[in-house]
Amino acid sequence: MIDDRFDAIVVGAGMAGNAAALTMAKRGLKVLQLERGEYSGSKNVQSEILNADMLAELIPDFRKDAPLERHVTEQRFWMLDDCSRMGLRYRFDDFSYGPSNRYTIIRAPFDKWFSSKVREAGATVLCQTNVTELSQNRRGRVIGVRTDRQVGIIYADVVVLAEGVNGLLGTRAGLRERPKPDQVALTVKEMHCLPREAIEARLNLKGDKGVVIEAVGNISRGMTVVGFIYANRESISLGIGCLVSEFQRTGETAYELLDRFKRHPSIVPLIDGSNIREYSAHLISKGGYNTIPRLYGKGWVVVGDAAQPNDTIDHQGGNVSMISGRIAAEAIFRVKSRGDLMRWDSLSLYKKMLDGSFKHAKRRDVLSLLHTQPQNFLLTRQQLVSKAIQNFSRVNSAPEAERSDLPARRPW
Ligand SMILES: Cc1cc2nc3c(=O)[nH]c(=O)nc-3n(C[C@H](O)[C@H](O)[C@H](O)COP(=O)(O)OP(=O)(O)OC[C@H]3O[C@@H](n4cnc5c(N)ncnc54)[C@H](O)[C@@H]3O)c2cc1C
Repeated sequence: MIDDRFDAIVVGAGMAGNAAALTMAKRGLKVLQLERGEYSGSKNVQSEILNADMLAELIPDFRKDAPLERHVTEQRFWMLDDCSRMGLRYRFDDFSYGPSNRYTIIRAPFDKWFSSKVREAGATVLCQTNVTELSQNRRGRVIGVRTDRQVGIIYADVVVLAEGVNGLLGTRAGLRERPKPDQVALTVKEMHCLPREAIEARLNLKGDKGVVIEAVGNISRGMTVVGFIYANRESISLGIGCLVSEFQRTGETAYELLDRFKRHPSIVPLIDGSNIREYSAHLISKGGYNTIPRLYGKGWVVVGDAAQPNDTIDHQGGNVSMISGRIAAEAIFRVKSRGDLMRWDSLSLYKKMLDGSFKHAKRRDVLSLLHTQPQNFLLTRQQLVSKAIQNFSRVNSAPEAERSDLPARRPW
């Protein structure tokens, strides 16, 4: 039975919740973090790319013991036709020498480690605890939460909603709308286990170096689809993501798209002979800057994916979530230190600080551009480039006019 009163309750122990709870606990606030999963990370099955700078702001010496997979020294972009591949490689040679900037991680062990840092900083972390309701007083101020663990309210000055993209608490309480189908992508992913040496040989990697491949083109069947491949130490994560509205429009299924991707001649040799350890599906917020809901109110703030911060193209959700969690926590600490109540006007400091952060300022500028014509970005340009290279590299006796046709489709 918890009858204490807390400075802050954090709902959720993902990237955003852990960043918020850690920051507040380090500042000496009395923090309770509640997570419905068996342990922090148990609900997060994906592997992803971690931006080291964001984590270093929270845990400067994280490289000592964080469960990192490979440090990403190369980014590849593949533009896939039905049976061809146009590739672009970018190598971060500098990162091979200095401290690495990006790592592949597997979220379950990573979140567990992150949560251990939250506990060390002094927060109380309770897993297997589902927050069922935000408790509000008669004036609509959030005063705490109810959980499935105990009868009665657990009180706090402020509740930090870090419940992820599909979080129901905030929507049920009327603090924000449910994300619309064109604001969320469904990703499906498989983890293919292979011996370390096989991964390194197939992807041309040495030691702990890693690569990330993003693929677009005909795999999409005209939808806004991105395929991805992340090299981990002893596995390759492979998946696709597509806006939910596109599935509704076309009737395609995520499984079919993933299957198509896996049968592409560029992918088959990478995963040949692998053991599939897990298959997972998860939503990713993709609404972008213009769909960010109200971020604060009387006694509450919302952080991470629940605040819809990501766009269609980039895959920075976890990193942006950490930033929003940290900044919300800093704002709460400042409000508390000057003796203010957690009113909506005092918590507006969070939004002010977030807007001033470099990442958010940059996003505002580029997002409208990326959202105008995702089809061009993801499909048409790949076909044009593939056609141009084919014309350049294929020598045959066909007349010029015929040679400019797109290559015939193959039923792979
Ligand atoms: C396949 C895939 C690949 C991705 N790749 C990348 C990448 O490469 N780089 C990147 O930066 N981002 C990536 N992302 C996005 C990233 O995973 C998310 O943006 C990030 O996890 C959001 O963090 P969060 O803390 O807001 O939410 P989450 O990590 O989803 O955490 C929310 C937590 O809240 C808990 N919770 C929810 N409701 C309740 C409740 N009522 N009571 C108690 N607990 C509750 C959940 O169990 C969960 O643990 C990827 C996502 C997917 C699906």
